Amino acid sequence: MNVYDSDRMIDVLAPLGYAPTNVLDSADMVILNTCHIREKASEKVFSELGRMRQLKERVADQQGRQVTIAVAGCVAQAEGDEIIRRAPWVDIVVGPQTYHRLPELVSKVDPKSRNRIIDTDFPKEVKFDFLPGEHAPRGPAAFLSVQEGCDKFCAFCVVPYTRGAEFSRPAKTVLDEAKRLVAGGTSELTLLGQNVNAYHGDNGSGGVWSLGRLIRALAEVNGLERIRYTTSHPLDMDDELITAHRDIPQLMPYLHLPIQSGSNHILQEMNRHHTTDIYLSVIDKLRNACPDIAMSGDFIVGFPGESDQDFSETLSLVNKVGYASAYSFKYSPRPGTPAANINHQVSESVKSERLESLQQLLQAQQFAFNKNTEGKTVNVLVERTGRQEGQMAGRSPYMQAVNFIGDPDQIGRIVTCQLSAARQNSMMGRIINSKGVA
Ligand code: SAH
Ligand code: SF4
Repeated sequence: MNVYDSDRMIDVLAPLGYAPTNVLDSADMVILNTCHIREKASEKVFSELGRMRQLKERVADQQGRQVTIAVAGCVAQAEGDEIIRRAPWVDIVVGPQTYHRLPELVSKVDPKSRNRIIDTDFPKEVKFDFLPGEHAPRGPAAFLSVQEGCDKFCAFCVVPYTRGAEFSRPAKTVLDEAKRLVAGGTSELTLLGQNVNAYHGDNGSGGVWSLGRLIRALAEVNGLERIRYTTSHPLDMDDELITAHRDIPQLMPYLHLPIQSGSNHILQEMNRHHTTDIYLSVIDKLRNACPDIAMSGDFIVGFPGESDQDFSETLSLVNKVGYASAYSFKYSPRPGTPAANINHQVSESVKSERLESLQQLLQAQQFAFNKNTEGKTVNVLVERTGRQEGQMAGRSPYMQAVNFIGDPDQIGRIVTCQLSAARQNSMMGRIINSKGVA
């Protein structure tokens, strides 16, 4: 979602004459768009800000210019005052719900008075209504935010505090944005939300659309070949969404559906409101609807109070599901969340051991999944040139990175490849047809 937000910040600043640059020392403004989900991510912001101070001094010395430094995103939202205290060279602090106001905030920066501008409101107006319709092309595969915020309050998670209450964009604005993206050359959209399947957007005629219904409407957008969505909560996987996986060919057979832990006791402590059985039954239904669906997930190890037994239940859940890919993290206490105050914190060394054994298992599963697709013929949306000379890179329907010998003309096209060899994190492919099969 930060990638999407960063692109939208570029859009909102374009009318002022700003354009992205890869050359740091030529920048008039640097915006750090930040993540607060784990401590590591937040701490990175402060070390990056040290580099920004040097940049500011270097450019002032060598070029006699002032560089504006802005911090956006969830660290800005949660730690705005702390940022200004620890990094007084920051000019603007702007939260995830107010970045549509960037033009106004930028105009208030005055290098002489050294005023600092902080805007971390949860405003009444909806930022999407103030972001420009026009935007630069986003490439073959693009993100589209449809839902933001969260009302679930898992005990470990800062999202409800930094991104605010759950909100769904009206269906029409989503469809309009999708059509504009497709007109600009995008053929795959990933619908985004912290809890994307809790989507319940106004349908324009007094009703509400679920995510499944929205996907059905998006599937009718001419030129939109592939649809994905992330991140989902198991309790919001309703029948309309599950049957969309059966009925809508554009909806890709891949789903990121985090459970966090395989222990019912820990799930309860996490305030997840579901058991492992509920999660497994959702996966059963999905596999009935779409037998080749590739599953992905998130896991937290070392949540306060997690015993060896609880952790071994996570391993057995992973064995039951069989993931095509997954993300796993050490529990990181986040300020202001209930779990940060629980007494039975798990030691760092135990967290490290558990993370390692979980990751070993998940990696073995990922390799097994990849191995199992060897020989298959799949469609690949070509996104860019690969790392090796002559190679092109894209994604299979199952979200695998696929590298094959091809031609840069193929970027943006869907081609047919035979998957020839499995790697840990990607597949080698052989192009069969530069026009993909349906
Ligand atoms: N809405 C999604 C997750 C959003 S956060 C869901 O409900 O599953 C993305 C991932 O970061 C989470 O799935 C979780 O695995 C991880 N995460 C969130 N808070 C964390 C914390 N305090 N410590 C470690 N990992 C965390
Ligand atoms: Fe965080 Fe996801 Fe739980 Fe919401 S549902 S509180 S975003 S982990």
